[in-house]
Amino acid sequence: MKPFFKGRRILPVFFGAIAVFLCGPVSALAILSVPNISSNTPKIRVLLNESIAWVEVGGWDLDARTSRPIKSRLRSNGRVSWRFSCSSGRVRLVSPHTQVFEGPLEVSSPSGAFLWGSKMIRESLVIHPAKSGCSVVNVLDIEKYLDGVVNGEFSAKWNSEAVAAQVIAARSYALYQSKQARLNKAFFDVESTTKDQVYLGVEGEETRASQVVSKTRGVVLASALDERGARIRAFPSGDLVPIKAFYHSTCGGKTDSPEDVWGQPQIGVRGGVRCLHCGSSPRFRWDVKLSNLEIDRLFSSFGKGKVRSIEALSRFPSGRVRQVKVGFLDGAGKFSSTVLNGSQFRSILGVERLRSTFFDVSGSATRDWIFQGRGNGHGVGMCQWGAKEMGAEGYNAEQILTHYYPQAYLVKVWK
Ligand SMILES: [Zn+2]
Repeated sequence: MKPFFKGRRILPVFFGAIAVFLCGPVSALAILSVPNISSNTPKIRVLLNESIAWVEVGGWDLDARTSRPIKSRLRSNGRVSWRFSCSSGRVRLVSPHTQVFEGPLEVSSPSGAFLWGSKMIRESLVIHPAKSGCSVVNVLDIEKYLDGVVNGEFSAKWNSEAVAAQVIAARSYALYQSKQARLNKAFFDVESTTKDQVYLGVEGEETRASQVVSKTRGVVLASALDERGARIRAFPSGDLVPIKAFYHSTCGGKTDSPEDVWGQPQIGVRGGVRCLHCGSSPRFRWDVKLSNLEIDRLFSSFGKGKVRSIEALSRFPSGRVRQVKVGFLDGAGKFSSTVLNGSQFRSILGVERLRSTFFDVSGSATRDWIFQGRGNGHGVGMCQWGAKEMGAEGYNAEQILTHYYPQAYLVKVWK
């Protein structure tokens, strides 16, 4: 197999002596270990739902406790079902008897699992009194969390090297978010939806997924460059910060940068990576037709009249639309226009309809509007279809990852 880009093993040149290799289905990865590697796996706090009226938990020998502002505890003997509500900073047990708890209430079971409604919960569930109702956060081992992410964000059926690449990216993303959330004193680290990573819970776990998670245990992506873009020459010590390893379904040929898409650079993630591997994605090319009536409805909240023109005003180097100019004509015959950024325009049309900002537009106010585009998703970081195909073509997880994150290297941060 021919290398398809140069220089992807720069860090082993610096730290070759401490590179370690995994074996098995995820093979030959050059992975660095941090000094004094931790034996403890961190916990991640996953927001499962917000502002819900009731929280029902059930199981054996349940234990519920608050630690702040006041310590209190409730324990059951044998099987129990508890129903809670929240208001005014308090969690209230309303069934089978009443009891009031000040502050967040953490529920767990000595068996390690219990039910929240009909959903199996690992480790513990923290009920936070929200402004309205309760917010529910699952606190669990980050590796077990990843078991439930594999089939939510990708598929354990893919080639194991492609799955390993995805798992490492998902672990990096989760760890990055967790560190940021703790700095910001947020009450959760990640959401369980596409806002962060789709977590299917225990129901989404399966053996193949768990095997790959286990083979890549503790491995994350870290930047080989510092904040000023200089190559890191000393091995990171202390609290290593993983990269925020964004990924998306299909890039359509070229990835984009976080600064182009969200206006903020991100250490270790850059755009402009050419991808020759996602051509088999059903979203590699797409087109969508919208009637002028539909477009007028979507832009009615602007209060400027009917849409007369839509023009891609400028593009990023990747080819994605930077700005869109929408022209209007009101009932009094007055023309006006609005300039939106590509992402805003995409959200107005619907992200499920306009699959990316990598599009051309044609049509007119008297005909349909036709959008012809490429790719699916924001285009930043790893292209999942590209990774899937690279795995099928024989590339290993490290090759896949360093292709899409060329400024990153793999490092094992816990045993
Ligand atoms: Zn791609």
